[in-house]
Amino acid sequence: MVKDLGQYATRELMNEGYEVIAIIDNHVEMRGKKIEEVSVVGPEKIRYGLDNESTDLILTVMNSKSVFEVLEQVEDIGFKNIGILKPRAGKYGLRILPDSDEIKGEIIWYVKNRKKTQIIPRLEINLIDNCNLNCVGCTHFSSIYGTESILPYAQYEEELRQIRKVGKLVRLRLLGGEPFMVPMLEQYIRAARQIFPETDIEVVTNGLLIEHLDRKLLKVMKDCKVSIVITPYKPTMYIKEKIIERYDRALELVKELVKICDVCHIYDNSGSEPFRILKKRKEEIYFDECPDWYLEDIKALTGIDNMIKRKLN
Ligand code: SF4
Repeated sequence: MVKDLGQYATRELMNEGYEVIAIIDNHVEMRGKKIEEVSVVGPEKIRYGLDNESTDLILTVMNSKSVFEVLEQVEDIGFKNIGILKPRAGKYGLRILPDSDEIKGEIIWYVKNRKKTQIIPRLEINLIDNCNLNCVGCTHFSSIYGTESILPYAQYEEELRQIRKVGKLVRLRLLGGEPFMVPMLEQYIRAARQIFPETDIEVVTNGLLIEHLDRKLLKVMKDCKVSIVITPYKPTMYIKEKIIERYDRALELVKELVKICDVCHIYDNSGSEPFRILKKRKEEIYFDECPDWYLEDIKALTGIDNMIKRKLN
């Protein structure tokens, strides 16, 4: 996951050949700084200093609650297009393609060719009130509900269709209780994707049932591009921290491995196709970049500074 969605978007757009004119930030301490060699300016600068008629504005707001606040500052300025970057773009290092459609491009357009559409920044739906945990202070009051507390599918689908009529939804979160306790969850997921083809959809879980999930459900989630968000509860935090610790240790060992191997190839297997980021043959060392692995990331992973850029895929 990227730490700074704005920086990620800037770098990605530049990599895709777009000119990034300025980065607008409401934080006064950021003014005058540069990110990826692009100046950070305040909102007043775009009002008076840029050619807004021919410039697109892309909002990179992680906190959905701030979307309207930011839109209020910019919507009367006269941009031809104003888009909201889906949070998943930064989370998964996806390509950002403003000229593509909203599904592929990872941007939901609030203003397109000066035409405004109603936007809903975020919607959360409790699919079930019951949970497999019994946390003290659960704000969803899950402990007082039974397993029958499932949102009926017909009602769910109807409500989604009604909401669709209001406008475009940036982010949909399917919650509980524990949503993985819902039988036929795949049906709920398919409906969400069909009704909101462009939306960033997440299932929010405590994570404990993931290892028992049916592969069919996982495949539906993958096909529907629905992500899993694990909320940090005590029982899951321990497991999660252990996995992260082992992962970090394994990454540290990569440096040692590359040093002693005469021939070494490193792939990123997180996408649909493996992507080779490093190729070493004795003294010749080549690298290739993708949105998850830029030169500085590959240097940090391998501990090697003197690599040559080459197409390895
Ligand atoms: S995991 Fe979440 S929903 Fe379940 S009891 Fe705990 S706080 Fe409530």
